[in-house]
Amino acid sequence: MEEQVEFPQRILVVAAHPDDAEFGCGGTVAKWVKQGATAFYLICTNGDKGSDEANISSEDLARVRDTEQRAAAAVIGASEVTILPRRDGELVYSIDLRGDVVRWIRVWKPEAVFTHDPSVIITPTGRINHADHRATGAATVDAYYPFSRSPLQYPEQIAEGLEPHTVMDLYLWGANPPDVWVDVSDTADQKVAALRCHASQFGDFERTRVFAKDRLKAVGEEHGVAYAETFRRVSARG
Ligand SMILES: [Zn+2]
Repeated sequence: MEEQVEFPQRILVVAAHPDDAEFGCGGTVAKWVKQGATAFYLICTNGDKGSDEANISSEDLARVRDTEQRAAAAVIGASEVTILPRRDGELVYSIDLRGDVVRWIRVWKPEAVFTHDPSVIITPTGRINHADHRATGAATVDAYYPFSRSPLQYPEQIAEGLEPHTVMDLYLWGANPPDVWVDVSDTADQKVAALRCHASQFGDFERTRVFAKDRLKAVGEEHGVAYAETFRRVSARG
């Protein structure tokens, strides 16, 4: 597996729910922002069902999760966050969802896009990859190629003044198998601090902290560093 050393100047993270971006690529994005990159977040649902508590309304939960996601993005160093008004658990692959991703790619013009690996249904650790993750990943993979770059796709966006945009690199987290790794030893604690912002998601944050750190450490050990994240990379560079 190759180490990803060069970093993109403009990064877009496309995630299904508040907290997925931090779990998926928080260490890498924080590292590259420290090195001078600009990062943007597109969250495809408002996370309004992501609670086991019966006594909070979906509207109130969406407000809480919006605040938490913006705080977490600030810890990572992301410059802007857009949260789509789509409901948790209701994402399906559609021309419309894909168009939302194309729109924000054309607005922010990233060099690299991070998202969920849509091809994984059962993760290597034996968990189910949530349906919203798969829908988000699939829409983003297709937005990456060919829809964002084609001037004839989503022509209403072009009519508004947005331009076609070619993203150079796509990074999939939760990938099976990954093919690049990033040393995040200097930003592992920043990732954990960002995860801590999602207080409504973790009754016992200590368990989440240990889980996240153990995962980073196990991957790091494979590559001779303290902590690492891995991805599958697709590149449009020759
Ligand atoms: Zn999620």
